[in-house]
Amino acid sequence: MALRLYNTMGRELQEFTPVHDGRVGFYGCGPTVYNYAHIGNLRAYVFQDVLRRSLVFLGYSVRHVMNVTDIGHLTDDADAGDDKMVKTAKERGQSVLEISRFYTDAFFADTERLNILKPDVVCKATEHIDAMIALIKRLEARGHTYFSEGNLYFDISTFPEYGKLARLNLGDLKAGARIDVDANKRNPYDFVLWFTKSKFENQALVWDSPWGRGYPGWHIECSAMSMEYLGEQFDIHTGGIDHIPIHHTNEIAQSEGATGKQWVRYWLHNEFLVMDKGKMSKSGGNFLTLQTVVDRGFDPLDYRYFLLGGHYRSQLAFSWESMESARNSRKSLVQRVARIIEAAGGSAPDATDALAATSPARPWLERFRAHIEDDLSTPRALSELHGLVRDGSVGPREALVALSAMDAVLALDLVKDGLAATVRSPKDSGSAETGSEDDRRVTALVGERAEAKKARNFARADEIRNQLKAEGVILEDGPGGTTWRRSDGDRA
Ligand code: AMP
Ligand code: ZN
Repeated sequence: MALRLYNTMGRELQEFTPVHDGRVGFYGCGPTVYNYAHIGNLRAYVFQDVLRRSLVFLGYSVRHVMNVTDIGHLTDDADAGDDKMVKTAKERGQSVLEISRFYTDAFFADTERLNILKPDVVCKATEHIDAMIALIKRLEARGHTYFSEGNLYFDISTFPEYGKLARLNLGDLKAGARIDVDANKRNPYDFVLWFTKSKFENQALVWDSPWGRGYPGWHIECSAMSMEYLGEQFDIHTGGIDHIPIHHTNEIAQSEGATGKQWVRYWLHNEFLVMDKGKMSKSGGNFLTLQTVVDRGFDPLDYRYFLLGGHYRSQLAFSWESMESARNSRKSLVQRVARIIEAAGGSAPDATDALAATSPARPWLERFRAHIEDDLSTPRALSELHGLVRDGSVGPREALVALSAMDAVLALDLVKDGLAATVRSPKDSGSAETGSEDDRRVTALVGERAEAKKARNFARADEIRNQLKAEGVILEDGPGGTTWRRSDGDRA
């Protein structure tokens, strides 16, 4: 099978073929760094990361580019409202640069905790003003712009395909009214490329340009920076679904208006994470950060697991109950992996270990691959992983090789956390005989405790727990039964 992705342009699953054989250029819209990312925003970046890791798993070499918006994004995605960065800087009495530095660092700290690989290129808007001016000049030379009351606008009447991604009905004035009516625009869908005079006085960051001292509109940064790092035509562009009608629509007008050819081949959009009480927004009360999740006692990877349990094109409802069930599922996976590691002699698989063609682990991995190739179906991919670790016919070494390959896509730290959760292996407990005998004795006691609990003989069950505790053995009751580990050494 080949990789198939749902292309928002065309609204269908399409076989993926990159511009250059074996190489993928991929641009994902990044954060506006005026506040912490909320967990909804983080869904967009986990999705980008799964896409990138999946491409690598399937044998492509990937160049992943992400912008950081540190200027020009107004509180409304169109041209209304204040500049988010400037507004926050004013409210805090800090400079735009200080705000941007602080929240950029916070963003990458969050993404790192979620095992999101840092993009190959992270580019800041304020460091690419020249590229934006150069692109706007190209648009001007091709007759796509007009100047009105101090701002330079993109004239959508010069780009007949305007709105093709969102399938906008431009004749529908009601739809046009979604955009703040700006008397200086010829058409309500026109948008600003360069601001000089605007509603914001004393704008902190301004640059010289052929249209006067000012600053760029939000959309131009993505067109300019993506083409600078990936060329005038590249493979994949991602973002949340909210970006379809305005931001990505305007990016296409700018990029294809300037070059006169197709810009992005596959448009991928993630659906929203929603709260019980509706939309999560940075201004609303239901603003949850990754730190809130950690403060509630969850591992950041429990949140990653929760996200992978939904397909990226389905809305996902957040609740603490779902987080608990994600935590339990990940924990039971880790415990099973720990047992597999023990059975394999206590160490992680070697990078050189390969699966034999006849290995019973192979069908699991092949099905996993097929799910990933089917528009990145992480929920189905996850169930193959659960199946693999439960399959007693797969030898431990082979299981480890296959599950490591799966976890290179899912990035749930299964081997790392599994190693930390392993019981003392016979190898490092002195004599192999004694170690395994003692392990068997503990396992038998754990089994006896389970029976006692079933028979509601809680006194005996507690007695066993206390006896084992005195020996330094810790019991953990989970959905898959009770597991145990020793509290000595550096094992968690
Ligand atoms: P922003 O920092 O506001 O530009 O948003 C960053 C990314 O998060 C964009 O790709 C948005 O489309 C995406 N996004 C915003 N809210 C949500 C949400 N609730 N669920 C999923 N993605 C979101
Ligand atoms: Zn963008």
